[in-house]
Amino acid sequence: MTHYTGAVPATQRITDWRVQGACAGLDPERWFPKPGNAIAVKAAKSICHGCPSMLQCASSAFTRREEAGVWGGLSEGQRTAIRKKYTLRQLENPALLEKAVYEALHFELNPLQTLRDVWEENTMPLPGGHIGWRGASASFSFHGIPITPKQISFFLDRGSKATGNVRRSPECPVVECIHPRHLMDTEERRQRVAAERAARAVTDQLAA
Ligand code: SF4
Repeated sequence: MTHYTGAVPATQRITDWRVQGACAGLDPERWFPKPGNAIAVKAAKSICHGCPSMLQCASSAFTRREEAGVWGGLSEGQRTAIRKKYTLRQLENPALLEKAVYEALHFELNPLQTLRDVWEENTMPLPGGHIGWRGASASFSFHGIPITPKQISFFLDRGSKATGNVRRSPECPVVECIHPRHLMDTEERRQRVAAERAARAVTDQLAA
């Protein structure tokens, strides 16, 4: 005896923007940074800015009058500014919504693209999987802001500005290397030292 009825199974492709969002499966708390934590806001936004659901997410936040957190790549302040400029009715229009979102993000998205161009024009592969910078690797002015190749490397990889100095990690032996994964900023070095201390403490306890 068979249970096959010939009916098409009641399955559906998952097309919900939340499921396809770049944050799916990540800790939602990362999109609700504590007030004043600009680094965490930037980190959340940097994920949103590469998200295929960015506009749907922004639209949903406006419809729900969502005040807290980062949604659609926009901070709370940016959404407030958009709401002052456009009515909720206007933001229901996909073309106007897109215009409003990209206007608000213009200076965040464009420098990233331009820095990417600078990176691609000036870097070269080095033996052993390292990356070098063509020409002098000293600080130069980018739209009036002094920046070094290491800072560009860090920014493009992490999606946020480095904290303090960017230096090669101890494992990378190539002095001129600027591979983003071979670099650490001050905060990452601090976290690493703390993690190593904690691991040593556990080892000492186990050995005692
Ligand atoms: S835009 Fe940001 S918050 Fe919205 S779905 Fe994408 S990653 Fe998540």
